[in-house]
Amino acid sequence: QKIINAAKLDIYLKGTQFCGVIQGTHRLAGNESVFTSLSPIDNTPVANFGKADSTEVEQVIERSKAAFLQFRTVPAPIRGELVRRIGNLARERKTLLAELISLEAGKIKEEAQGEVQELIDICDFAVGQSRQLYGLTIASERPEHRMMEQWHPLGPVAIITAFNFPVAVWGWNAALALICGNSLIWKPSEQTSLCALACQQLVEDASSTMAEIPDDLTAVLLGDKTVADPLISHRDIALVSATGSTEMGRTVSARVAQRLGRVLLELGGNNGMIVTPSANLDLALRAIVFAAVGTCGQRCTSLRRVIAHESIIDELETRLIKAYTSLPVGNPFSDKTLIGPLVNRAAVKRFQAAIETFQKEGNEIIYGGQLREDLGPGNYVTPAIGRQTGDSQIIGTETFGPLLYLTPYETLPEAISIHNSVTQGLSSAIFTSDLQEAEQFLGPAGSDCGISNVNIGTSGAEIGGAFGGEKDTGGGRESGSDAWKNYMRRATNTINYGTALPLAQGIQFDI
Ligand code: NAD
Repeated sequence: QKIINAAKLDIYLKGTQFCGVIQGTHRLAGNESVFTSLSPIDNTPVANFGKADSTEVEQVIERSKAAFLQFRTVPAPIRGELVRRIGNLARERKTLLAELISLEAGKIKEEAQGEVQELIDICDFAVGQSRQLYGLTIASERPEHRMMEQWHPLGPVAIITAFNFPVAVWGWNAALALICGNSLIWKPSEQTSLCALACQQLVEDASSTMAEIPDDLTAVLLGDKTVADPLISHRDIALVSATGSTEMGRTVSARVAQRLGRVLLELGGNNGMIVTPSANLDLALRAIVFAAVGTCGQRCTSLRRVIAHESIIDELETRLIKAYTSLPVGNPFSDKTLIGPLVNRAAVKRFQAAIETFQKEGNEIIYGGQLREDLGPGNYVTPAIGRQTGDSQIIGTETFGPLLYLTPYETLPEAISIHNSVTQGLSSAIFTSDLQEAEQFLGPAGSDCGISNVNIGTSGAEIGGAFGGEKDTGGGRESGSDAWKNYMRRATNTINYGTALPLAQGIQFDI
């Protein structure tokens, strides 16, 4: 059952929902072709969209460049005012934005509202940051000289996003890139075009009474991955910020590297948690269940691997199975549901194939894994738990669904080694009441991930910290801390306020 009606959508979309390209007053049909997205809830069409063609994309880039040249000289706190308004509109439209996320990505109500809250939070953060785009003053070795650094706007920023955070990931990038003085071109997942149009509408409404903001400052290009091609190869795109699978990141980053452009990569995770003998198992259990089955296991930070001490693994297994038995799977719009659908039929197939491979490798599925056809034509599955009893290659890959592996360990160094043995390095956790174990996990020989937690699950990061991971996760950092620096260029300035011209390193060059 879809509870969004056309009248509600019109509030956001003002009749633009079939355009393939939106940039200020430019609303291009998307001449290439029309594509239809299906809702994960019941596999019925959500809407039809025009796909942006490459000529249209070239035009968008030209306009985006012109908008950047104007916007880069607008004072940063005024750019912050734009983001403040975007955040306020997101507050007003929170419920409706969340409904679009549920409709297109299948996220349950609570998590969809939480995602919009992330957009609101990053806007608040960025407004403050707009008065804090600071550089350093550095001691010069030369008399009567001053050395300093400044941070300047970068240029048009291309944002490529995944289906699973269709609003928040745009928000992390857009809020910071805008206060940093850049124009934006967004290629969202073709699964979540309505969410993208609704976010673009936030910017357009927020800027409508701000004379300083150029019309073409932000653009949305709808369609599949081919739409992003001209953005990736264009020298005027100063930064390509791409969120999605490792495979996508490899392709995009190799192509941007050919023109020595900048990338910011937020790619796949294969997140693990170590549960030690001293862990509070009540807490660990709650953390594992939320992190493993939240968003139906389709978060980049979803928990996929629990590495539990051999003395407690059996108890943990029993308690996990009991907890899983009571988890309601179903329509994400229902208040009772905790687990919504997988995004599409291909995701269901990949989930089932991973289960089959794990079993063929000599391991055991101890709970779940069934397709829930009793819940209708959507992509509903029972979340699964596997117990590792032999070698497994499949544990090393990211299966984007609610499939959790349990692996036993004897010593902490062994647990950390198992934990770090995968190619991805996004989020990690340890549950322990032992200070030394916790600090070892957080230390230089501990977890090799970008995010390491103690007595907290792997998912549900706050926006105040830098978000991202190492190895196949791509190395990028977005959101809080000093992630804003990704969206600016640094200039080092040395000023001579004396009457001589001393050279650095004491070099004498008298003419
Ligand atoms: P995906 O890689 O299939 O697609 C992501 C985006 O990239 C889409 O917009 C898609 O059209 C585009 N794309 C794909 N291949 C491309 C190419 N060769 N050139 C240009 N664009 C391309 O990912 P998905 O299925 O939408 O999302 C799930 C993946 O995203 C998972 O691997 C998940 O871990 C990852 N993810 C990572 C983060 C993070 O912050 N690290 C956040 C969310 C999702």
